Amino acid sequence: MNRHQKRMNELLSLLDSGHKDPHVKFKLVAAIYKGNRNLAYGFNSFKTDPMQARYSYNYNTQTGTPKEKTIKRYAGRSIPQRVECMHAEVSALKNALKKYGLDEIEGSTIYVARKLKDGSIGNAKPCKVCQIPLKLFKIKSVYYTDDDSTFTCEEIND
Ligand SMILES: [Zn+2]
Repeated sequence: MNRHQKRMNELLSLLDSGHKDPHVKFKLVAAIYKGNRNLAYGFNSFKTDPMQARYSYNYNTQTGTPKEKTIKRYAGRSIPQRVECMHAEVSALKNALKKYGLDEIEGSTIYVARKLKDGSIGNAKPCKVCQIPLKLFKIKSVYYTDDDSTFTCEEIND
């Protein structure tokens, strides 16, 4: 078993023991590693998050294309729509930023694992919105679970 498989297995068991939000439809966990060092973990959450919203309100989560209508009318005023639930990748990034500088986060690897309600493993490829901060903060590559208990690696910043 290589270290990537080992880390994935750790994340999958962490989903069973460490995921505290009962409201999510499916559980996701992300971990950021620099070399052998774990910088942070993060979970998806039903709670909304301003950093997630910062990237989400401009982009469609599914396609990554800019939204045409980000402005909502409220009480006669136009206000930007800035509400988005926390995704595991952004949560891990925020937790890493609490403890480490940009230079330490640069070049790191993020692992993302997903389990469905029935306990089966699901595809955890970061959505187009999460790919924006991962690229901005110079995360090097991402490993994510597939539907069939394997995982995939993709380069984010070469
Ligand atoms: Zn996302």
